[in-house]
Amino acid sequence: MAKKKVTVATASLQSCFGCHISFLDLHEEVLGVFDLIEILHSPIMDVKEVPQVTVGLIEGAVANENNLRVIEEFRKKAKIILAMGSCANLGGVPGMRNFFYQEDVLKRAYVETESTVKGKIPTSNQIPKLLDEVKPVHKVIKVDYYIPGCPPLPEMIKDAIIALVQGKEPEWPTYNLCKECKRYHTLMYIPQREFLTETVFSPMELEQIDTEKCFLEQGVLCMGPATRAGCHTRCINGNIPCRGCFGPTPDALEQGSKMINALSSILPAGTLMHLEDVVGVGYRYSLPVSIYPKVSPPKGGKK
Ligand code: SF4
Ligand code: SF4
Ligand code: SF4
Repeated sequence: MAKKKVTVATASLQSCFGCHISFLDLHEEVLGVFDLIEILHSPIMDVKEVPQVTVGLIEGAVANENNLRVIEEFRKKAKIILAMGSCANLGGVPGMRNFFYQEDVLKRAYVETESTVKGKIPTSNQIPKLLDEVKPVHKVIKVDYYIPGCPPLPEMIKDAIIALVQGKEPEWPTYNLCKECKRYHTLMYIPQREFLTETVFSPMELEQIDTEKCFLEQGVLCMGPATRAGCHTRCINGNIPCRGCFGPTPDALEQGSKMINALSSILPAGTLMHLEDVVGVGYRYSLPVSIYPKVSPPKGGKK
């Protein structure tokens, strides 16, 4: 008799759908996963009610009233909640909205974009209202397990599902990306000024970039020291510095300050980050779980 499959429901909250796409990027390997699981509900299935399932796989941050409703229903219906990707775990790119007043965000999106003509902010109650701030899923409901990354590697999603099917916990590296990185890096571990740079370079600006040498040691800001390993340095392999999408290591208070701390041992405190964009680099994926001060609403106004 065929073994009973583990039932799964998936949801997409405030997100780009990239985590679901990453799952599909397993290509033919996805068939092996479908031998183990049966998906009973997903954003691309016409199923109105979330059924009782074993695993609720959630992509995206909690940013509006509909997202809230969906995850509360998932928590009731799924035995195990698996938060997939940086948006679900840290707030992710949508969480950058927390740095702005809500009114300004709506104005920018509906009125001010370059392609908009006579735009206006919609007021229909059919459109879910934005929450005051974007939150990762675990700030609203209990999350049992997570998969880091923006998006997680396809094989990580597969490994997490297989682990749960086998009654195990998904496990991820707890060390930082520099430990996984093949570029030679010697100076960054020694407090010194030999490779102090006057400014921040983007890889395109470096006349001759050494593709085997650590980015930081060439004056290119790379978030490797403050980022969890596990992606097999996929950006660095393409000569692009890490932007931290796997989030902080579990022992870090938070990612941006960990990076400033790491830099301060090799450079005047945080110089590289302050010359670039502290929030855009240090907190691109994790602003909602950072110690960065929240933007206070203007007096009498709404955030
Ligand atoms: S974690 Fe990245 S890939 Fe996944 S939904 Fe968020 S933005 Fe998209
Ligand atoms: S800072 Fe970046 S390039 Fe340098 S070792 Fe760490 S991950 Fe590699
Ligand atoms: S190198 Fe950094 S930004 Fe790129 S996938 Fe890995 S963790 Fe994410």
